[in-house]
Amino acid sequence: VSSRLPHVGTTIFTVMSRMATEAGAINLSQGFPDFNAEPELFDRVSFWMREGYNQYPPMAGVAVLREAIAAKVADLYGTTYDPDSEVTVVAGATQGLFTAVAALVHPGDEVIVFEPVYDSYAPAIELQGGRVVRLALHAPDYRPDWAAVAAAITPRTRMIMINSPHNPTGSVWSAEDMTRLAELVRGTDIVIVSDEVYEHVVFDGRRHESCARHPALAERSVIVSGFGKTYHITGWKIGYVVAPAALMAEFRKVHQFNVFTVITPVQYALADYMADASRHLGLAAFYQAKRDRFRAALADSRFELLPCAGTYFQLARYRAIRDVPDTVFAEWLTREVKVAVIPVSAFSAGATDEGVVRLCFAKHDDTLDAACERLVAL
Ligand code: PMP
Ligand code: GLN
Repeated sequence: VSSRLPHVGTTIFTVMSRMATEAGAINLSQGFPDFNAEPELFDRVSFWMREGYNQYPPMAGVAVLREAIAAKVADLYGTTYDPDSEVTVVAGATQGLFTAVAALVHPGDEVIVFEPVYDSYAPAIELQGGRVVRLALHAPDYRPDWAAVAAAITPRTRMIMINSPHNPTGSVWSAEDMTRLAELVRGTDIVIVSDEVYEHVVFDGRRHESCARHPALAERSVIVSGFGKTYHITGWKIGYVVAPAALMAEFRKVHQFNVFTVITPVQYALADYMADASRHLGLAAFYQAKRDRFRAALADSRFELLPCAGTYFQLARYRAIRDVPDTVFAEWLTREVKVAVIPVSAFSAGATDEGVVRLCFAKHDDTLDAACERLVAL
């Protein structure tokens, strides 16, 4: 077969979760909670199903959900998006990101990404014939190097894909970072695709710097977010995209033909559920407590914990335990120690290995405690 993606194998999340199951390991690899969402959300879905809301919704999503999304974004970040022309409900952030790239990247266009980079970005760009321009972020703090960004921008740069809070590193961009980015793209036609799926998981009093907080960025940004992380429903695969009308019009041209639209009763249920803002506003404190518990338990281990400012991922250096490549360490930890993790080299094209693995702490306290007991013993 003539492959469109000859260098791509199976995503690391599938590989590690499968290995975790085979090994009977505690799975801290793929990012998903091992606890359930609130029953009220299920009741709302069931309600709308029984009411007969089971046929195709509008292509862009049901109006009440688009209105609720626009209201939340305006409330939190200050930019008002028109629910009719600037908000689209998508089948998860992965689809939103893929569709944005498909709609906006032409063959030969350059797209800047920051490595380690979430694993779906580069294949999406390559499938459109785009060129991936990778800028390295380094342990321990993974700060962007703005001089390097400036140097990477050329007349062919079509898009910059950003992600704060950042998977896998847990780093969070500051207002100053957003200002630097805005300065660099001023006067160009570069589009920002901003992956904000962890927008509600920022710690220690930081605030999430959405592109929607920065008018100079908002006017050229496609913002992708989701419900999976926010409401503990990663398996429902539902999210949303907001963008100025001209960008959204292009986005919808593709969206209508790759998914058309998204499950109806769940959209109505989420519109109801979102009305209580404490649900998303309380998430940071909820995960900060888990982060703190997890870090405290690992303080006595031989892992060196890197900073974690947001997301539900903790990075750790492990070479004091075994001086091997991160893929080897992750497999050994999964099969022998029975704790599954993600090797961070999986997020870079050159498989850059700084001896760091990613552990997901979106787990019951009991799960975290059981995993830490094994990790501290190493
Ligand atoms: N972007 C990032 C940074 C993610 O971590 C994830 C999934 N955890 C996604 C996108 C994909 O989200 P979804 O499951 O909604 O497609
Ligand atoms: N985003 C999740 C993670 O980082 C995994 C999502 C997936 O499996 N595609 O672990």
